[in-house]
Amino acid sequence: MRTKILVDVFVFLLGYFFTVSVQAQRPPAELELIPINDSIYVIHNQGVPGNATALITDEGVLLVDDKFEADYENMVELLRSVTDQPVRYVVNTHYHQDHSGSNARFKAAGADIVMTAQARERMVEVNQSGLPRFTMKESARIHIGGEVVDLLYFGRAHTGGDLVVYFPDYQILVAGDLFNYGAIFGDGPQAAQLVDYAGGGSVREWTKTLDAILMLGFETVVPGHGIVTTKTEMRRFRDSTLELRSRIQGMLRQGNSREAIEQVLRGEFGWQDLHMMRGFDGILGELR
Ligand SMILES: [Zn+2]
Repeated sequence: MRTKILVDVFVFLLGYFFTVSVQAQRPPAELELIPINDSIYVIHNQGVPGNATALITDEGVLLVDDKFEADYENMVELLRSVTDQPVRYVVNTHYHQDHSGSNARFKAAGADIVMTAQARERMVEVNQSGLPRFTMKESARIHIGGEVVDLLYFGRAHTGGDLVVYFPDYQILVAGDLFNYGAIFGDGPQAAQLVDYAGGGSVREWTKTLDAILMLGFETVVPGHGIVTTKTEMRRFRDSTLELRSRIQGMLRQGNSREAIEQVLRGEFGWQDLHMMRGFDGILGELR
């Protein structure tokens, strides 16, 4: 028991220092502004950090996710190329710093930050800056500049507090990391399921959460990382979450070793070191 606690503390600290050092040393990413329509733009880059999505209105900008702090200046500059309006709201799809790293800067500039209550709790636990004053549980609706923006929580997936942002009038969904798409690192492997167990993630619940989201009416999806894509691709990703779960469950039932399971996760499901670090013990524990 004592060893277990020590190991937990060690793993926690490892994760903490990993995130903090990633944040501190990272140079700004090379960003590009991609219009989806007249009002909605994606600030995209290869790899990490995650996508940021901006709704431009004449009452201010609503930004979904805000990358690392290192990217703050470049994001603001890109937004200035399309609007004079300030960022009024920053909505975080989840607590990870590559999606919430500029919160403190936007907050200082007058924006309100919004996320799920679970994501806020987790930010407090891992000592992140830029906490929101507002949180939501199941749904919230923001009215800004004549636009309607729905923030919706459907259950555990990548973390325990992932929300999606839905623009009903445009049939566009911003998914966060519960759906990543394509080869995020240039010619690297296709996006895989990263289950952040310490942050409340669940491979078992993930499929159900995606099923609920797929009931919404939308065609265009902004993934957490990767290029803007379609509902069809999101459905494909949903199928792969089910496949991942059944495959590992089957292997555990047959008594396969950790090594054999790791090999399958890396070889067939695109898991890399970060996926292993965040999700391996958790997935074995959850599916056993
Ligand atoms: Zn994430």
